[in-house]
Amino acid sequence: MLAAMASTSAKSLSVDDYVAGVLDGDRTILSRAITLIESSASAQEASAQEVLQQLIPHTGKAKRIGITGAPGVGKSTFIEAFGTYLVQHDRTVAVLAIDPSSIRSGGSILGDKTRMEQLVNEPNAFIRPSPSGDSLGGVARRTRETMLLCEAAGFDTVLVESVGVGQAEVALRSMVDFFMLLLLPGSGDELQGIKKGIVEMADAVVINKADGDNFLRAQQARSEQDAALHYLQPATPGWKTQATLASALTGLGIPEIWDRIGTFYRELEPKGVIANRRHQQSLDWLTDLIRDELPRRFYQDPSVIQLLPQLRQALLRGEITAFNAAQTLLDAHLGQKE
Ligand code: GDP
Repeated sequence: MLAAMASTSAKSLSVDDYVAGVLDGDRTILSRAITLIESSASAQEASAQEVLQQLIPHTGKAKRIGITGAPGVGKSTFIEAFGTYLVQHDRTVAVLAIDPSSIRSGGSILGDKTRMEQLVNEPNAFIRPSPSGDSLGGVARRTRETMLLCEAAGFDTVLVESVGVGQAEVALRSMVDFFMLLLLPGSGDELQGIKKGIVEMADAVVINKADGDNFLRAQQARSEQDAALHYLQPATPGWKTQATLASALTGLGIPEIWDRIGTFYRELEPKGVIANRRHQQSLDWLTDLIRDELPRRFYQDPSVIQLLPQLRQALLRGEITAFNAAQTLLDAHLGQKE
């Protein structure tokens, strides 16, 4: 009943209502605008894109920070402590996620509000669970668009978490300015499910849970990481990636990490490094969207749907080559019927 009411009233919002509401920082309308963007219904897609289009001039002002690390490393707990510290220092914080598991399950651990009990009650924080989608590209796209909405709504800091390991880190790196990798003390990177390539993408390596019995091992791990980082190409030109200790339990490292992020922007923004990164990210995003969209259109094309089965058969009977079958289909799709 409530859901039905919500969806009826959601329908009554026009594109202008969404735009005005988001720009006003209205949380309810922001949430609805995100839901609109997450909808896979094509009727809504046009409105969603119209809303985004109008909001684009109001985006781009936030610090975009990515946080990754193996499950259990303490990402959620860290974000809770870090986000709370930020709102206490007059920042407005949106917390988003890319969760590849939401591709199938349609849900997210981040949606479980008990995980960020304190932050969820902060008026200057906004936590949105990972969207679901049918591909990592789809999930990442929605997260990225949600980030833009949050920026238009006035949030000055966006924290994006990648839940789990694998391709999600790469998708996350491609939408943030500053990329942080959380590691545990005392176990090798491989044991933590962290590929070397991920360390190479990091602007900061955080040795997390540096408290209690872990503390000495954490210090050791930091020295090792710093030594290893010395030999890596910097993830960001002109920036030295360092290892830092942190503990959500004691608060160790939280102000230092924020300080380090401040230095990152202060040093690199005037040199155009951040703007360059964002430009490259936009171009990559365009390429990704085209790459995702083309096969979808192709396979939905009635002429392809009609021709494909008979061409498959002809291929299996040895009557045509795979290349010729592909050419015929592509020509049919592009309207160049012979
Ligand atoms: P995630 O899967 O990376 O999001 O990890 P969680 O934030 O859910 O944390 C996993 C476990 O580590 C939980 O039991 C936390 O209580 C614990 N934990 C998180 N941060 C710290 C920390 O700074 N110190 C200690 N000792 N434990 C922590």
